[in-house]
Amino acid sequence: MVCEQMDFTVLSIFPEMFESFFGYGIIRRAVESRRIVASSINIRDFAKGKHMVTDDRPYGGGCGMVMKPEPLADAIRAAKKKSPLSKTLHLTPQGRTFNQKIAHELAEYEGLILICGRYEGVDERICTRFIDDEISIGDYVLTGGEIAAMIVIDAVTRLIPGVLGGEKSSEKDSFEDGLLEHGHYTRPRSFEGDDVPDVLLSGNHKEIENWRLEASLKRTFLKRPDLFKNRALSNQEKNILKKWHQDIEKIIFS
Ligand code: SAM
Repeated sequence: MVCEQMDFTVLSIFPEMFESFFGYGIIRRAVESRRIVASSINIRDFAKGKHMVTDDRPYGGGCGMVMKPEPLADAIRAAKKKSPLSKTLHLTPQGRTFNQKIAHELAEYEGLILICGRYEGVDERICTRFIDDEISIGDYVLTGGEIAAMIVIDAVTRLIPGVLGGEKSSEKDSFEDGLLEHGHYTRPRSFEGDDVPDVLLSGNHKEIENWRLEASLKRTFLKRPDLFKNRALSNQEKNILKKWHQDIEKIIFS
């Protein structure tokens, strides 16, 4: 069951980065309508000493700095106190690779506490003692976890009922049923000699749906054929593919 309201708490040494993220578009509307509660905690506020240090040199030597465990642990405890049912996520290139399925999974929680690393990352004892799940946004390395946290929050927020306006708005998006979504057109009807497909102007809803399904299959076949691997085809989809097969045979053997 997807939650009706979700609590996001971001832990970062650069919490200001989230001000504009939470302040625009659908995310802003979700905050205003209380579909999501968004806050950030500055890890530095939990650092001790005159210089409020949040990082230190790695044991064993080597370059780069490591995020110290004490301020992070205290920041996580503060976040948990505020939102006890939230799951604690660590954004790291070593985590599960984020996708739409994981976005749906995360949307079921009451809240998420998102830990953004910097430098070489966080002290390993934070990972082993405080983290429920590790999420990567892809096989590349960023300078910090903030952008990764924004990506996760953005993808999860649009799955919360009411956030996109129409209850079904996200259901037809790419990946939802294992395919890429068809292309979209708006006015003008003719753009630099390139016309909108006639069927979309026909007003025939059944034909429009058929065209959209075929366009969706075509895109997936050309751009992401891997998506077909773990997905069963419906009879209607099989018939479309058979028709392509026949058309291709005609071209080859004519
Ligand atoms: N030394 C780490 C490693 O090799 O696994 C990389 C540290 S990275 C320079 C600094 C921080 O950026 C990480 O602690 C993490 O929070 C964030 N980060 C970098 N790449 C990421 C990715 N692909 N997904 C999620 N977070 C990432």
